[in-house]
Amino acid sequence: MSTVKPVVIIGAGPAGLMAADIISAAGYPVELFDAMPSPARKLLRAGVGGLNLTHNEAAERFITRYDEAQPIVAGWLAEFGQESVRAFARDLGIETFVGSSGRVFPVQMKAAPLLRAWLRRLNERQVQLHVRHRWTGWGPEGELVFSTPQGRRDVARRDAAATLLALGGASWPRLGSDGSWAAWLRDRGVALSPFRPANGGFSTHWSTHMLAHAGSPLKGIALTHEGASKRGEFMITRYGVEGGAIYALSRSLRERIEMDGNAQLQIDLCPDRTEAALGALLSRPRGRDSLANHLRRQIGLSGAKATLLRELSTAEQRAETLHLAAAIKSLPLTLTGTRPLAEAISSAGGVALDEVDKRLMLRKLPGVFCAGEMLDWEAPTGGYLLTAVMASGYMAGHGMVDYLR
Ligand SMILES: Cc1cc2nc3c(=O)[nH]c(=O)nc-3n(C[C@H](O)[C@H](O)[C@H](O)COP(=O)(O)OP(=O)(O)OC[C@H]3O[C@@H](n4cnc5c(N)ncnc54)[C@H](O)[C@@H]3O)c2cc1C
Repeated sequence: MSTVKPVVIIGAGPAGLMAADIISAAGYPVELFDAMPSPARKLLRAGVGGLNLTHNEAAERFITRYDEAQPIVAGWLAEFGQESVRAFARDLGIETFVGSSGRVFPVQMKAAPLLRAWLRRLNERQVQLHVRHRWTGWGPEGELVFSTPQGRRDVARRDAAATLLALGGASWPRLGSDGSWAAWLRDRGVALSPFRPANGGFSTHWSTHMLAHAGSPLKGIALTHEGASKRGEFMITRYGVEGGAIYALSRSLRERIEMDGNAQLQIDLCPDRTEAALGALLSRPRGRDSLANHLRRQIGLSGAKATLLRELSTAEQRAETLHLAAAIKSLPLTLTGTRPLAEAISSAGGVALDEVDKRLMLRKLPGVFCAGEMLDWEAPTGGYLLTAVMASGYMAGHGMVDYLR
């Protein structure tokens, strides 16, 4: 039995596991606690979509995805960046590949093999995992208080060499991260930004014609909001829209809705053709064809896309070829609200970045570190989330080792 006090890590998601990896590799004992019956449920859920670990675009472009958190996140990525994510997976026996869009996935396209190998390594290094231990804050003597099926369990301040909070954000609470920790940190004077949905859907009002396409992806489109464009796809849902191209613009859409109550999105149904080229094709003689047939034959527009054109254009626009071509290139969709945080892929908000030092230790709570999505940064989907989560776990892990020395 080691007589050295253990490091306590609360939260066994990718941030907490990464820190446990670094600290245990440095030879320090680690006690890892999680509220759920098993670790890293959100990571496993991310595996359902193939587990997009990172992106292989140029580092200068990659860092721009973190908006105003760039200066801080750049410091993390300098230590543990895109290539480190791939090397880390390889070291666990998991090969990765670059998909056509530049996104990086494990060859098996799932999270379970990576998680199993990771937990096995931590277990070999004697990291003690305590599941069903929900941290409920600090007691009067600074002790960490856990609620467990066996009742309350305390870890006294003198029994922990240092503490890492890696409690995740506040989306998908059924996977374990419910943001309830925010109140306990605020009580200790730590500044937090409110949680908001990031990478989530938006509401709009659809007609019954459009609702018939709920669940249909619209592929090969381009979306524009306030000068920023994203090519890709999105999904019609019963309440509105969701999907990759929407998530890429979700921050500016959310902020516009917060300011004005709604946001205007422009949809280009045929981004590979210019308006003039569309006009030329649609000007061909139509004969006795209906407009729907003409659109399908001349420019391949049918199904949900054709219904969306009808939904978002006027009869006058559709009656005149050049106006129709212009409408196809820029259909205006009004979004009236963000979908609830619980449904979003990730959350914005959390512990303000200037509350932690370079080692990710809370300035107001010496010996207490933070990592992962609970810190206030956000990024679109595309592997940017997991990369920064793991990088911050890496930074906190090394920060704690430094602190202990
Ligand atoms: C459906 C879905 C798909 C996703 N796909 C991708 C993807 O392909 N690529 C990508 O980059 N990102 C993806 N993400 C986002 C990514 O999974 C998260 O950003 C990442 O898991 C956050 O890591 P974390 O360690 O900070 O927090 P989490 O993974 O949320 O882990 C936090 C842990 O803390 C525990 N915890 C919370 N509160 C307490 C408490 N009070 N006491 C004890 N334990 C507690 C939780 O149980 C949890 O295990 C996806 C997310 C979702 C929901």
